[in-house]
Amino acid sequence: MNIAVIGGGIAGAAAAFGLAQKGVRAVVYFESSGSSGLYSGALDFELWDRVGELTRIEPGLARFAEALGVWRLEASPLCVATHEGNVRPTRGSDSAVLDLGPCAGKRVAVVDLERDDWDAPLLAKSFASSAWARQTNTHFHEARVRALLSGFERRIAGYDFAALHDAPERLSGLLSALQLSGVQPDAWLFGPWLGIERQAAAELSSALGVPVGETTSALGGAAGARFDNARDRLLARVADVERGRVTKVEPSVAGYVVSASQGEAREFSAVVLATGGVAAGGVALERSFERHGGTGFRLSFAAPVPLELEHEVFEGVSSLSNVDFVARGLSTLLDVGIATGSGGDVRGRPGLFAAGDAIAGRPRMALEAARTGLCAADGAFAHASRFG
Ligand SMILES: Cc1cc2nc3c(=O)[nH]c(=O)nc-3n(C[C@H](O)[C@H](O)[C@H](O)COP(=O)(O)OP(=O)(O)OC[C@H]3O[C@@H](n4cnc5c(N)ncnc54)[C@H](O)[C@@H]3O)c2cc1C
Repeated sequence: MNIAVIGGGIAGAAAAFGLAQKGVRAVVYFESSGSSGLYSGALDFELWDRVGELTRIEPGLARFAEALGVWRLEASPLCVATHEGNVRPTRGSDSAVLDLGPCAGKRVAVVDLERDDWDAPLLAKSFASSAWARQTNTHFHEARVRALLSGFERRIAGYDFAALHDAPERLSGLLSALQLSGVQPDAWLFGPWLGIERQAAAELSSALGVPVGETTSALGGAAGARFDNARDRLLARVADVERGRVTKVEPSVAGYVVSASQGEAREFSAVVLATGGVAAGGVALERSFERHGGTGFRLSFAAPVPLELEHEVFEGVSSLSNVDFVARGLSTLLDVGIATGSGGDVRGRPGLFAAGDAIAGRPRMALEAARTGLCAADGAFAHASRFG
């Protein structure tokens, strides 16, 4: 069975995994990391202040998280500290992020080291004044830890600082620094710096006998890098990867022909479009159109796919011109996408499916991307079984 997935973010990885579970080795096209490589490490179905964290985890989603190997999805929601100083609920998280739930009513030490992007005393105060900390009587305090070895480590990107802790000698140095700090809290809270390749948070937790973990990541930090690496490992096992830009998806007798910037065009009986939204460039914002003028949207490749904006479907073309941002507001950037039915089937295009941030009008959230990726895989498999 011949199925293509376009996009290597969470939705594309989930779609390829879902197809592999049915015995299909999909061809996955992607150019670079999209939003998934930039995300915070919190895993939500909806914006976290909308109570979406209670949604049940379906078995397929749990299997995908397990196969990825860097996500924690448990029966009940987690509570995490953000890099910006909030405490918030989330349905799941990158495994290195500290789950504050079991720390309720206890003492959490916020690691105080001299990085320019980290103010431990201020963060400890901010976490301590959160509604969750006050309700649960949880104490946050800063704890001085000598964890920087050179002056330049104050300023290097969070990603690079996290990567330093992949080295075994560096991690054992960090363990000694925690032991020598003179405090014995019930949990240690770091910034997003506990390794990219290795499970440094789990190793420190088991060595110290108390939970050790991170806050969420800032844009483009450790959590996104861990997803990217985990995605590469997973796709190498379950799919054939074509790194490059897809330029065109066009209907053919047997399905769809996919053309890319490199290599021959190939025909597939079904295609999953997991190309992301405006944030990742899957939907491009254009300042002017040769024929129409104005500002609008188009997909990052040519395809006869309807776009949708605020429940209005624009049939037949993969571009949408003359969008009035003053009247519609900037939320259009999050709303615009491919028009689909509830199973991710692209309207009027049998055998084409969309997933993740590429779908119009759905929450731009990591678990929604994974859920819709698995759903699109089901649809593509069913279609290819009947017509492929
Ligand atoms: C800064 C930030 C913070 C976030 N924080 C959270 C959070 O706290 N909680 C949460 O749940 N979610 C969060 N999200 C949202 C979440 O990361 C996204 O909803 C999710 O990653 C979307 O995944 P996706 O696979 O649909 O799209 P993407 O990850 O954007 O992937 C799109 C893929 O399509 C590929 N592509 C596009 N066009 C082409 C083409 N023409 N040819 C080949 N490949 C193409 C791209 O290269 C990329 O690989 C955050 C996102 C950002 C940006």
